Amino acid sequence: MEICTIGDPRLRQKTLELTREQLRSSAIQDLIDALIATMRSAHGAGIAAPQVGEPWRIFVVEVNQNPRYPYKPPIPLTVVVNPEIYYEKSLGTHFVYEGCLSVPNMRGKVQRYLGVRLKGWDRYGQIYEQEYRGLSAATIQHEYDHLNGVMFIDKVEDVQTLSDWDNYDKYHAKTFAHYAESVVLKYESGANDDH
Ligand code: ZN
Repeated sequence: MEICTIGDPRLRQKTLELTREQLRSSAIQDLIDALIATMRSAHGAGIAAPQVGEPWRIFVVEVNQNPRYPYKPPIPLTVVVNPEIYYEKSLGTHFVYEGCLSVPNMRGKVQRYLGVRLKGWDRYGQIYEQEYRGLSAATIQHEYDHLNGVMFIDKVEDVQTLSDWDNYDKYHAKTFAHYAESVVLKYESGANDDH
């Protein structure tokens, strides 16, 4: 599917919760398949329905040695419908370099909670609940924000961290990858044991 890019009002649209009947429909199941295929072909770590112009509260995530984000630990393919997010505020926050399939060739630093708990349904309407930490928690917060019309650039407080991908690689990748490694070690080693 074509990915909406920044400035497209569909990225800011109000999204709708699905009933189990709507979720079972072939239109929605086809949309979920298309989201997965689009995320994979664009090498995204995740994609949310508004990014393909669809007003539903659905996102998918998958991280597996992603060339756009080599420092991100793996997340198995996960389809999340009607999610609710709980921020583990006691763990604190940190700053993460993010990018987005809807904001081509741009990265910037965003403050994210170090831990979240996500509740929702899987694609079959079964209850899904999972805790995420560190960089994986940031990925989940990024995708969840899309369902509320929020883009990562809305949350970039220090606009001087904005960088195109070439300059990110040239000037920032090494430092951030080093930091990312420490976060993964501290918060995410063994994080996938319970998947
Ligand atoms: Zn995004």
